[in-house]
This record gives sequence, C-alpha cells and structure tokens, in this order.
Amino acid sequence: MQPGMLVSPATMGLTIRLDEVHHEYGRTEEAGTVTALENISLEIPAGDFAVLMGPSGSGKSTILNLIGAVDRPTRGRVMLGDREISSMSERDLTLVRRMKIGFIFQFFNLIPTLTVRENIEFPLALGGERGGMRERVDRVLDEIALGHRASHYPNELSGGEMQRVAIGRAVVHDPPLLLADEPTGNLDTRTGERILELIRSIHQSRNPTVVMATHSDRAASFGDYVIDVIDGTVGRREPR
Ligand code: ADP
Repeated sequence: MQPGMLVSPATMGLTIRLDEVHHEYGRTEEAGTVTALENISLEIPAGDFAVLMGPSGSGKSTILNLIGAVDRPTRGRVMLGDREISSMSERDLTLVRRMKIGFIFQFFNLIPTLTVRENIEFPLALGGERGGMRERVDRVLDEIALGHRASHYPNELSGGEMQRVAIGRAVVHDPPLLLADEPTGNLDTRTGERILELIRSIHQSRNPTVVMATHSDRAASFGDYVIDVIDGTVGRREPR
C-alpha cells in the first residue's frame, strides 16, 4: 500500500466522450456570437492523464468547462461514463460537479476567510458529508505536506502552497475526474515542477481521469498524451 492510502480506496476514473460538440458564446443581437469549438469529437479513457495544449483563445477552457459540468454545449453530446451531461438540468449539473469533479485553477481560487483546513473541508461540507470528515482532510493535508499550516489563512501562504491547498480541495471528495486549467501558469518554474509532481502522484494514488490545460511543453510531459487544441478543433499526439 502506498503512503496516504489508509483512509479511502482509490477512485476509478471516468471515461470522457465528446461527440460532435459545437460551442458558441454570446448569443445576443448586439454582441453576435463567438464560435469556441467546431464539432469536435474526442474520447479520453478512464484513468488517463490527458493534456490539452494550444494558444490562448483556442478553446481549452471551454472544453474543461463542458466536461466539468460548468456549461452545456450549443450542440452535440458530452458523456461522463455512461451519463450524458450535455442534456442535464442545472440542478443535476451542480450535483455532478459536487460529486464527480475536482477543479484546479491558475489563480488557486481559495476562500480568503477560511483556513487551509476549512478550504479543504469545503467540498465535503457542500456535499453534506458528515462522518469521517476530519480523517479525510488529514489524509489530504498529509498528501499535500501542509499539515503544519492547517490553521493558517491563504494570505499567509506562498503561491505554491496555495496551489497545494487548492489541489487538496479538488481531491478531498475523491472525484473520478480531476480538471486543471493552467495549474502552473502563475508559479515560477521550480514551484510549478513540484505542483506537477503532486498532480502526478495524486493521479497515481487516487486514479482519477486527469485533464490538464497548459501552454508549457514541460507541463505537458507529465501527461500520457497531448490533445492539441487549435482554433476550436482537436488532434492527438504524444508529448514531446
Ligand atoms: P483558451 O482556454 O484556450 O484560452 P477559451 O476556451 O477560453 O480558450 O476561449 C475560446 C474562445 O471563446 C475565444 O475566442 C474566447 O474569446 C471565447 N470566449 C470564451 N469565453 C467566452 C465568453 N464567456 N463569452 C464570449 N466569448 C468567450
């Protein structure tokens, strides 16, 4: 058994499938529309670590938001496992987000008035979790090596430490899908490297499907393969 695996068993990842997904923003008369994705089809098997690469504005965040149950496509199907999330109600999408997905952002998005422990607890509290909360958070604090900072506030932490807390918050409920949008984009190279190592180690110990958007070849090398996103279209290749 690997360290940090004592409390809950490893998660099985979810297979992600996009069928002919088309997405437009701004359907108003004044603003017109922006086509972000053009009929893309894509499958990411359960447990893979896939990397989305492409220039700014190419559609990476849009893909993450569609598979992260944040938004629904204008047309086409998005499947998580055997469930079609593209046709779900807002209420059901909220439940999918809470139960199935962990999201890591470029700017961490921690709640400044909550301590490290409380930030990590937040998804469990939101999901109505009662028993075993302390143990689960303790396991996460151990994984992110920040047990000694549990009662500190985000503004007392470095950028790398804040991102570690954000990763802890993203995985505390053992989601089968972990999404990361430029997780090292706001960190120096060395700190970024440690964050990527932490994501890799969580992928190995908890086995979620991981999808990470990045600009960096170094970050991309942590994934199993790269999905290039160019002008709203996709293509797959091995990382450099
Ligand atoms: P990336 O993550 O690769 O930088 P995005 O998915 O954020 O790309 O954006 C894809 C395209 O959709 C861009 O042209 C962007 O300007 C546009 N876009 C993204 N979000 C919105 C929005 N809320 N309203 C209008 N256009 C948007």
